[in-house]
Amino acid sequence: MDTVTADDLCADAARALAHADNVLVLTGAGISAESGIPTFREAQTGLWAQFSPQDLATPAAFARNPERVWGWYRWRRTLIGRGGVNPGHRALAAIEARRPISIVTQNVDGLHAAAGSTDITELHGNIWIERCTGCAAESSQPVAPADNDASLPCCPACGAMTRPAVVWFGEMLPTVALERAQELLAAANCVLVVGTSNQVYPAAALVEQAVQGPATVIEINPEETAVSRSVDMHIAATASRALPGILAHWPHDAAALARR
Ligand SMILES: [Zn+2]
Repeated sequence: MDTVTADDLCADAARALAHADNVLVLTGAGISAESGIPTFREAQTGLWAQFSPQDLATPAAFARNPERVWGWYRWRRTLIGRGGVNPGHRALAAIEARRPISIVTQNVDGLHAAAGSTDITELHGNIWIERCTGCAAESSQPVAPADNDASLPCCPACGAMTRPAVVWFGEMLPTVALERAQELLAAANCVLVVGTSNQVYPAAALVEQAVQGPATVIEINPEETAVSRSVDMHIAATASRALPGILAHWPHDAAALARR
């Protein structure tokens, strides 16, 4: 019988995270699902089971019907604003208060920053940022329930229509974010993978690279994923249980180590 409990694993993970020189945290939709934010790929409940990406998340869809696309993004903003940060987001921010960590996320919801994390690289953009389709100027909206205004948002600088600064199907990921993710991965000796299905490239490739490299890789996911059997430690629990669990086991000698 397997006597290693999730609690034991959280204690091991806390030690690995506290003692590593460089920690990279890769997060996906799973950490935000517990804020009531629907994920994209679940067969029954995921957004793409109910909506068509071709109608809502491509440059062509936006050109064809910007009102419809903006309506959908406003609805998603409302869900995010209502759900807010959960114990998983908060625990990562609390870990950052104990030691530096870098977060690379596939999520566009802005909830890591809302929880207080500071070193965040967003691979797929941010739903609270609007980018002008004319001059490319970006402006940031507060993480809050969206208003009911159905008009199309316009750039304060040039008056052209703005779009959500997220990566749509058929678009490239932001080069700066991808390069920073690669740099962080190369420097990391401990990689924490939280709530990602490891199916969506290139984020999945980052995880595969981490597994093949020398870093200690810890996965938090209630489900078994493509890499669960290859990682050093798989904690089969949700982020909002496992991350506070890791925090609860944070080693007492960690502060002394950090001062060395
Ligand atoms: Zn503009």
